[in-house]
Amino acid sequence: MKQRIVLLGPPASGKGTQADRVASRFGIPHVSTGALLRSESARGTELGRKAESSTGRGLLVPDELVLRIIGQWIRNHGTRFIFDGFPRSVGQAAHLDAALAELQAPLDLIILLELSDEEIRRRVEARLSCLQCGATFSKSLHGLKIHDHCPHCGDRLVRRNDDVPEALEQRLHLYRGMTLPVVGYYERKVPHLMHRICAEEGSDAIFSKISTLVDEEGI
Ligand code: AMP
Repeated sequence: MKQRIVLLGPPASGKGTQADRVASRFGIPHVSTGALLRSESARGTELGRKAESSTGRGLLVPDELVLRIIGQWIRNHGTRFIFDGFPRSVGQAAHLDAALAELQAPLDLIILLELSDEEIRRRVEARLSCLQCGATFSKSLHGLKIHDHCPHCGDRLVRRNDDVPEALEQRLHLYRGMTLPVVGYYERKVPHLMHRICAEEGSDAIFSKISTLVDEEGI
């Protein structure tokens, strides 16, 4: 079974949902840098305050802060993970490789969820999020409204401040400019680990493909 997984994809491609399902089925911890940063902000930590000036505008948080948060996570939890939303730049990918090489625990699976811009905009428009537990819902699919209680933890559902159209366009621009090159980086470096999955399909069909990849032996 795979133990060190990176899940790449544009906003609203289902990374969080799929990483949660992998965590439940395989017991591999789901690590979302976006959720870790939001939790730092909610707790009012220095790191959270520094990150807020970028997150609220849909900009990338400086590598130094993100690498600090990931380093802390690995020190506290070890080297079994499914990363969602990290790495977001070639610099972050190279740092992660170096850190994992030192621990003799290299990545063993990289998955890219692919989605059209049109579908991304449609999904983000309908998205409600729980800042407490990190769950996301669709207004249309789940019949929920803003400020309803989160079906998982009971907190209030909100529209993330970076899900508004202007910030979303900025995030899409950054995804193309900064994060898609990470795909090229892995395709050159470890092509045998890299897999693409069409994220327009239903959640179950996508999860079935991901499960097959996670279940495979060896690399
Ligand atoms: P997400 O929940 O993955 O959409 O992330 C929300 C926001 O957190 C992003 O728009 C960025 O501002 C910030 N963020 C999350 N992960 C990273 C990362 N790996 N590098 C830089 N910024 C990040």
